[in-house]
This record gives sequence, structure tokens and C-alpha cells, in this order.
Amino acid sequence: MDADLDAFRELAHSFCQKELAPHHERWAQAKQVDRELWLKAGEVGLLCLSIPEEYGGGGGTFAHEAVLLEEQAYAGDDAWGNAVHSGIVAHYFNAYGTEEQKRRWLPRLASGELVGAIAMTEPGTGSDLQNIKTRALRDGSDYVINGSKTFITNGAQAGLVIVVAKTDPDEAARGVSLIIVETEGAQGFRRGRVLDKIGMHGQDTAELFFDDVRVPTQNLLGAEEGQGFVQLMQQLPQERLLIAVTAVAAMAAAVEQTIRYTKERTAFGREIFSFQNTKFTLAECATEVAVAKAFLDQCVERHLKSELDVTGAAMAKWWTTDRLSRVADECLQLFGGYGYMTEYPISRAWTAARVQRIFGGTNEIMKEIISRTL
Ligand SMILES: Cc1cc2nc3c(=O)[nH]c(=O)nc-3n(C[C@H](O)[C@H](O)[C@H](O)COP(=O)(O)OP(=O)(O)OC[C@H]3O[C@@H](n4cnc5c(N)ncnc54)[C@H](O)[C@@H]3O)c2cc1C
Repeated sequence: MDADLDAFRELAHSFCQKELAPHHERWAQAKQVDRELWLKAGEVGLLCLSIPEEYGGGGGTFAHEAVLLEEQAYAGDDAWGNAVHSGIVAHYFNAYGTEEQKRRWLPRLASGELVGAIAMTEPGTGSDLQNIKTRALRDGSDYVINGSKTFITNGAQAGLVIVVAKTDPDEAARGVSLIIVETEGAQGFRRGRVLDKIGMHGQDTAELFFDDVRVPTQNLLGAEEGQGFVQLMQQLPQERLLIAVTAVAAMAAAVEQTIRYTKERTAFGREIFSFQNTKFTLAECATEVAVAKAFLDQCVERHLKSELDVTGAAMAKWWTTDRLSRVADECLQLFGGYGYMTEYPISRAWTAARVQRIFGGTNEIMKEIISRTL
């Protein structure tokens, strides 16, 4: 943190408290946030924070993204898919887009006119990305895309989708390219249902179908086919660090609300907090938050200097999300029956925690990555 980030936190805090916190029940019913939220966030400059100003972004760093994500977690919101939109999708354009692609799409992502999504996972494959079946085959000056994707964050609202597809189906990793699809008016593009999840009910997670969807060959991200897998491997560490930021903030928030609750609720004529079990459990949880935060800060500092490697990001992702699951579970227990009621934020924190070990690469895949360096 520094003075600039402190000042930015105030803006992020007030936005999240005002524009996110009050709406979670309505968004959970709708299975998505209000479309206008993106425009509001764009107006106050909260989208694409770490994209250069010349492309409409905030000109900040990953630290700005991290502050906003923390404030989102402290506000108890797990619906708004901005980490994917600003922290992931925009960075693919920034890192690999041609000058024309950046000028064409980044300003519209930064204003909220377009919502971004990245579609890797398919019904038949998630972890084993090299095995995707979606194809984007050249036909004259177009790519023709066929395939289906599932579990896509922002899928229902996305106007711009980075589709991970095989441009050379005979190759494994080397056959993968990233193809940009502007969804409006795209013939053959269809959204499936917004999926019912056990948690994060307000987050739009959808299926996408591509049936002979044509896009011009200029929609290949970057200048060369077959670079998709390398591009994914280079960007996934940032995605994993974003997940770790959310995990640690969610852990801290869970502990804080549990301390508050156990000091208010009584049993056997005493505060719940005063039982040794409660105090020790919370002492352990507070320690885990402190340790996780120290490691996360170190990873963020390394990332700001472009020094965070794939292994470090994998360590941060699996460990913080694993700890989050434990801490959220311990905290929920201290709420008794109220912890199981959806109106209590701790119950949402518990269900939202569960998926963190699955997406962004499962924690087993993280350990696989780490073990290769041992
Ligand atoms: C809420 C949500 C949002 C998501 N958002 C997106 C998104 O925006 N874009 C997107 O593309 N995807 C998204 N995903 C998909 C997510 O990234 C995948 O679910 C995840 O990568 C796992 O893939 P899978 O579900 O196919 O599981 P599988 O790959 O089938 O894995 C099943 C189990 O096998 C284990 N396994 C697999 N391979 C190995 C191995 N080599 N060694 C040990 N164990 C292994 C896994 O760890 C897991 O436990 C999202 C998922 C969810 C739930």
C-alpha cells in the first residue's frame, strides 16, 4: 500500500458498499448482476484499472486491481465478475493484441460497453486444456468456429468472448489459438442457461454454443496462430493471484464477522466468544489470515516486479483457497444454526469458498505444477 492506493481504496470501498452490498439477494434471484453495474463502474473509472490510459484504462497496476477485489470481498459480494473482465480478459488484449485490436476493444471494456469473458472449459474437458474440441478453422478470410463451452463467468452478459479453440486440430498445445468473438449479431452463437450453482448465486456462469460462427481472421488474438496455449500459460499466474487475493480477503472478512457475532450471542449466560473453544478457534483462524496475508503480499510484490513465476502463483492459489475453505468452515460452525441460513453472510462465504479450490485450475493441478519444479 501507498498513499495513492490508500486514496483509491476509499473510492473502491464506497463503490462496493453502495453499488454491490445492497443488491446481493436480488442478483442471486436473477443469477446475474444488473447490466448497468458495468456502466456505472466504467463511469467512475473502476474497470480495467491496470490497463494503460491510452486504451481507456486506469493506468494503474495489479495493486489497484487487488485493492478493488479486497473491497469487493469485504462488501460480501461474490456476484460481480470484474476480476475476469478487468483482471483477466483485458490483459489478454493488452499483452497480445495488435495495436488495432487494443484500440478497438480495450476502451469499450474499460467503459463497460462490452462485458468480457474467457471461454476455455468445455463439457468434456477442463483441466486437460490441450484436449479441447472447439475448432476455429480458416475459410477464406474468416475463421469458422464450432464447439461448446461451459461454466463461463460473465457468459450471459458477455459482449466480447475470448474463445480458446483449435486452429490446427491435429496438434495438441501447438494447435490452440485465442479467437475473439463479438457476440452481438454473431450468427450461430447461442448462450445456454445460466447455471445453478451451490454458491455465488448472483454470478453469471453460463454455457456458450458456437455453431458455424464466422469471424474475420483479424479476430485471432495476436499475429500468429498456435500461440494460444503459451498465452494462457503466461496469463494464468495473474488469474491465480487474483483468486488468492479474494481468498485472503474473504478469510479476513469471515473471521471479523465471526468475532463480532460470537461477542453478541450468548449461551449458558456467557458470550459465545468467551468459551475456550471459540477463542482458540478464532485465534487459529486469525493466525492463518496473518500468515496467508504475508505470503500473498510477497507474491503481489513479486508480481508487480514481473517476477512471480508459475510455481509461486500456483502455491498462492492452492494454499490460500485451501485455508479459506477451512477458515470459512470453522467460522460457520461458531454461528450455530444461523450459519446455515443464507441470510447470514457467513453461509455465502462458505459456499463461495468451495469453488475457489476448483476454478482457475484445480488445486490438484496447482500441486501438479509445483511438483514439476521439485
Ligand atoms: C463458478 C465457476 C466459474 C468458472 N469460470 C470459468 C471461466 O470463466 N472460464 C473457463 O474457461 N472456465 C471456467 N470455469 C471452469 C473451471 O476452470 C473448471 O471447472 C476447472 O478448471 C476444472 O475443470 P473440470 O470442471 O473439467 O474438471 P476436471 O478437469 O474433469 O477435473 C475433475 C477432477 O479431476 C482432477 N484432475 C484432473 N486432472 C488431474 C491431474 N492431472 N492430476 C490430478 N487430478 C486431476 C481435478 O483436480 C478434479 O478434482 C469455472 C468453473 C466454475 C465452477
